Amino acid sequence: MKNSITPGQISQNNLKLIYQYIYQNGPVSQQDVAYDLRLSRPTVKAKIGELETHGLIRKEGQIASDLAGRKASAYVIDPEYRFAIGVEILKKQIKLLRVDLTGRSSHRVVIDLIYENSSDYISRLCEQINNFIEELPSDRDRILGVGLSFPGLVSADAREIVYGKILDCTGLKIAEFEKHLLYPCRFLHDADAAADSEIWASPELEDFIYLNNSIHLGASMVYHRKILAGKHGFSATIEHIQIDPKGKQCYCGKRGCIETQCSLSSLLNGEEEDTFFKALREGDPVVRNRWQVCLHYLALAINDMHLLYDVDYVVGGYLAAHLVKEDIDFLYDEISRMTPFPETRDYIKISKMPKHNITIGAALPFIRGFLEGDLIE
Ligand SMILES: [Zn+2]
Repeated sequence: MKNSITPGQISQNNLKLIYQYIYQNGPVSQQDVAYDLRLSRPTVKAKIGELETHGLIRKEGQIASDLAGRKASAYVIDPEYRFAIGVEILKKQIKLLRVDLTGRSSHRVVIDLIYENSSDYISRLCEQINNFIEELPSDRDRILGVGLSFPGLVSADAREIVYGKILDCTGLKIAEFEKHLLYPCRFLHDADAAADSEIWASPELEDFIYLNNSIHLGASMVYHRKILAGKHGFSATIEHIQIDPKGKQCYCGKRGCIETQCSLSSLLNGEEEDTFFKALREGDPVVRNRWQVCLHYLALAINDMHLLYDVDYVVGGYLAAHLVKEDIDFLYDEISRMTPFPETRDYIKISKMPKHNITIGAALPFIRGFLEGDLIE
């Protein structure tokens, strides 16, 4: 037999229901809340009062009520009530921004800082993060946490880098950062952070694989809008599937991994990505050939994964900003030659979040944690 629910739990549950309703539908009146949630007016009045007193919601204008000639106060959530910091750590730079409760980012900065696997680097990085926070107009007490995204795989508890060959940071522990940062901290695999941004921006997506095609290739597997890490954190590491045993050397030590054929670093020949795509769209035949080889291997990778996991495939990362319909058609044409099944051309999508997706995604677990938590401590 299940234990009965206590009045305290019912009260807490009503508080969360009302907050979430206002979050999704605001501005709304007390009457809207009571009617749609089937709660009594006194309960709604009391809970709205509690949320308003704590600053989670506020009145913003008035809206028409059912009663002729009368207007009711409209309530919205305060997106600034809490916020989180997202940090993307790269070989030569760090990127920082602030994300509010609606997932909106602001105050983005990019700082040159060469990665080193040393306590001195961690100390300098944290100093930059603390300076960034210091200059924000918001109160530090409102910070939910700092998410640190790495081009590496992260342990299930988000406290250790379990594979970090790109930056040579395998074994790095979050405790090293917590010595300098007075906020909850966690690591994120960059592809997972990007995929989480996509989940946030695309309510219609349910199950999908996100391809983070940037300087390096990475991927993330999403099931029922949750990222699947796998038993050892190695799920969706498609970049190291070998497609040519005699191919180019990958940073993992093997040869001919998908990374060596489809990542931006494998595509570009020293030129800037904007220069490459400008030449491509102007019809440069040499550039076009390189692009089609890259797309061929990307099609091969998508087809192999699609045979295993028949879901949507979102092509993201830096590449997303340059993709056009013709490229997606080319991918489908290539795949139609590889697959035994009649293909419906409805599952390859271009990311809706081509910009700052990793940095925003690094902050999102804290925002989600707050919205799903108890709201008022
Ligand atoms: Zn590899």
